[in-house]
Amino acid sequence: MSRSPIWHPFTQHGLEPPMKRIVSAEGAYLVDEDGKRLFDAISSWWVITHGHRHPAIMAAIRAATEAFDQIIFAEFSHEPAETLAKGLIELAPAGLEHVFYSDSGSTSVEVALKMALGYFHNRGEKRDRIVVMEHGYHGDTIGTMSTGERGVFNAAYEPLLFGVDRLVFPEAGREQETLDMFESFCRSGRVAALLIEPLVLGAGGMKIYGANVLAGLKQIAERHGCLVIADEVMTGWGRTGTMFACEQAGISPDILCTSKGLTGGSLPLAATLCSGDIFDAHFSTDRRKTFFHSSSYTANPIACAAAVANLQVWRDEPVAQRIGQLQETLHANLGRFAGDGRFANIRQLGTIAALDLVVPSGGYLAEAGPRMRQLFRERGLIIRPLGNVIYLMPPYCATAQDLTHAFDAIDEVASIVTETAPVKSRAAGIQNRLREA
Ligand SMILES: *Cc1c(COP(=O)(O)O)cnc(C)c1O
Repeated sequence: MSRSPIWHPFTQHGLEPPMKRIVSAEGAYLVDEDGKRLFDAISSWWVITHGHRHPAIMAAIRAATEAFDQIIFAEFSHEPAETLAKGLIELAPAGLEHVFYSDSGSTSVEVALKMALGYFHNRGEKRDRIVVMEHGYHGDTIGTMSTGERGVFNAAYEPLLFGVDRLVFPEAGREQETLDMFESFCRSGRVAALLIEPLVLGAGGMKIYGANVLAGLKQIAERHGCLVIADEVMTGWGRTGTMFACEQAGISPDILCTSKGLTGGSLPLAATLCSGDIFDAHFSTDRRKTFFHSSSYTANPIACAAAVANLQVWRDEPVAQRIGQLQETLHANLGRFAGDGRFANIRQLGTIAALDLVVPSGGYLAEAGPRMRQLFRERGLIIRPLGNVIYLMPPYCATAQDLTHAFDAIDEVASIVTETAPVKSRAAGIQNRLREA
């Protein structure tokens, strides 16, 4: 195996072949150094919404570079950040009135946690517990790992991760258990916030739960005076069929995190939106009540300009219609696997389609993921199963033909993998939280 000078993310360099270079990207496709076209069925790790290199977004980036590079964002402001903040507040669920910029999904969640803790600290209330949902994923910093599912991927850091209260996942028919559990955590009076991925837990295996559960959790939080942080890093920007997933539950969170699709996936940028109350708890003539957070690249003007252009794409183009079409095409294609014994839990939410491959658990599973990735690559597709969970999350420009090809490949790859599986049995308690198997 080559010893790469670059240390790639979520990559075991001792097992992976050298990385292929991508030389260009256009629409739903990447082109590698051999000229091979690859259908980006997971939107380059969930960030690309409209398609790669949307012309209007690329043009806005070029234009912004005529005036800006990075600009210090304390003491000064700039037009792209202001226009974007106004646009975000207009689009977001009601009650979110302030925008704090950072540069990744993880930092947007860190900011959210600090806002929630700072809110109670500045009001002199002792509330310092965070409630999360099992199988959750909120990022890879120490703070966000603390709030996410624990496993092999964070075992080395476990001694430094802080404790949180975990809700059981609301399996269909057992939603009340989750709600009751939240109520009992809240009764301690110590809960500062519920941090949750609305409607679908992404990295935890595309686990979908009902909007009624989210609405129920919000009601309980309100009753007990604790905050709700919606981690919409993956679910935002139309992924679940609505602009934000919270809309489907008819709720406004106190804090909302957005990143991945914020710039259409073109540049790194994140925003944490919060209610007036949270801003007000930090608004004071007392410097000790300042919100002490910053990162060097806060509100990068070029990234903000890309996000402003993304918002304009949403206004000018029939994006909702494209999403509706994509949703229908995914649904029709998933239909072909109904009653197919190779798959379980066939599911869809908006533009996310997922199905569990029925394989024996344990060691075999660890091999199945990378093997499937390879088989998909050979068929011109970028699909990275989460353990035994095969999912598609394509850019909105994906055509019916692209998707038919992807589902044909899933059919074929599933047969290859299950036929060579040592024992055929239903995998129980599968550890599928990794971005790769
Ligand atoms: C991807 C993701 C994050 C982390 O975002 P990064 O930009 O990778 O730091 C946080 N929360 C959710 C729900 C995500 O899907």
